[in-house]
Amino acid sequence: MIKIRMAVPIVEMDGDEMTRVLWRVIKDELILPFVDLKTEYYDLGLLNRNATKDSVTIEAANAAKKFGVAVKCATITPNKRRMEEYPELTEMWKSPNGSIRSILDGTVFREPIITDKIKPLIKNWRRPIAIARHAYGDVYKAVETITDEPGECFMTFKGASGSDKTVPVQKIDGSAVWRVEHNKESSIRSFARSCFNYAIDTKRDLWFSTKDTISKTYDGFFKKIFEQEFENRKTQFDELGLKYFYTLIDDAAARVMRSEGGFIWACKNYDGDVMSDIVSTIFGSLAMMTSALVSPDGKYEFEAAHGTVTQHYYKYLNGEKTSTNPTALIFAWSGALKKRAELDNIPELSSFGDNMGKSTISAINDGFMTKDLASLSGERIEGISADAFIAEIRKRLKALQR
Ligand code: NAP
Ligand code: MG
Repeated sequence: MIKIRMAVPIVEMDGDEMTRVLWRVIKDELILPFVDLKTEYYDLGLLNRNATKDSVTIEAANAAKKFGVAVKCATITPNKRRMEEYPELTEMWKSPNGSIRSILDGTVFREPIITDKIKPLIKNWRRPIAIARHAYGDVYKAVETITDEPGECFMTFKGASGSDKTVPVQKIDGSAVWRVEHNKESSIRSFARSCFNYAIDTKRDLWFSTKDTISKTYDGFFKKIFEQEFENRKTQFDELGLKYFYTLIDDAAARVMRSEGGFIWACKNYDGDVMSDIVSTIFGSLAMMTSALVSPDGKYEFEAAHGTVTQHYYKYLNGEKTSTNPTALIFAWSGALKKRAELDNIPELSSFGDNMGKSTISAINDGFMTKDLASLSGERIEGISADAFIAEIRKRLKALQR
């Protein structure tokens, strides 16, 4: 079989634990036999981040900016327990995802991978719903305090020019709790641009919701920026027959439940945190969620939504066969290959990426699945090992590639 040639490399970010193990298997079994794979490899495994004082993460993110398409394995974000587990760590290194996100200035798009075997808990959801979550500010960067006597609170901004703006917040007759939130115009604009670009790219309607009837200034600011950014995309939206739809968050919640799915729902930071967990649970499992970080200038980083699956890794180290679900990792690779194919105009690479997804879904639909899915399927299906599942996918992929 002649292998598919690539023109420009994909930025490959390797990771940790069980996902690192599966990463290798996916490459060896599902990609390398078919594609003359070109990657710029960065080892983001915890030990190499430590050895390079985390410069490898920054280099990988910059490479993603340069080449435009990256694929990332799950990585350990060290905490106190990990510092004990890896005594060689010289620092509690920051989350690589956070570092990459701030360099690419992107928005995270998450969406479920749909199969016939796993039915969403909401019957009318026939197509995936993607959540686009703003990843900066609001309550995540809020300042909070408690006061315990009557008094009055003011909010003061001191401008770099020496200006001074003070607004009264509330007069209070007893103990009270306070919070100040902020967001940056530049960040909201990037968020809006990423959402419109993603909608155009994936040819789906974009919904956006806030509570601007109550939060007229704060949420109104978000709404206005989205409207301004939409003006620049309106022609493209019209040409593709796409809609941009703004509604209140509570109205959106009701409409989403009644919908068939198939659109992108842009959410402010907190709304996106909650809604993406609701959506992923209704559709099934974290191992069946794709995740893509998209920058406002159209750079892509594909990953799985789950972590390094530590519990399974410990079993693997004990020599046990694990039934870890590789679906989201396979889709991350498939997404990156298809994006590369589109940018470099390589149709056979694009159809290969599609076939990776198709053979995975068809294996699941025919009852070959890992334990997590078997238990969700509601049928008496035995879960198989990750290796057996990947071997089954390979068989189907080979048939499709003939
Ligand atoms: P996790 O790795 O997502 O795993 C949590 C549990 O979810 C697993 O124990 C497993 O349940 C189930 N699960 C997740 N993915 C699965 C898969 N592909 N197949 C089957 N079951 C799966 O989350 P965590 O245990 O909280 O975090 C582990 C490490 O991952 C942490 O060090 C964290 O820093 C890191 N993390 C990285 C990322 C990222 O890089 N994107 C994201 C989140 C967490 P059962 O054990 O019940 O089978
Ligand atoms: Mg959350």
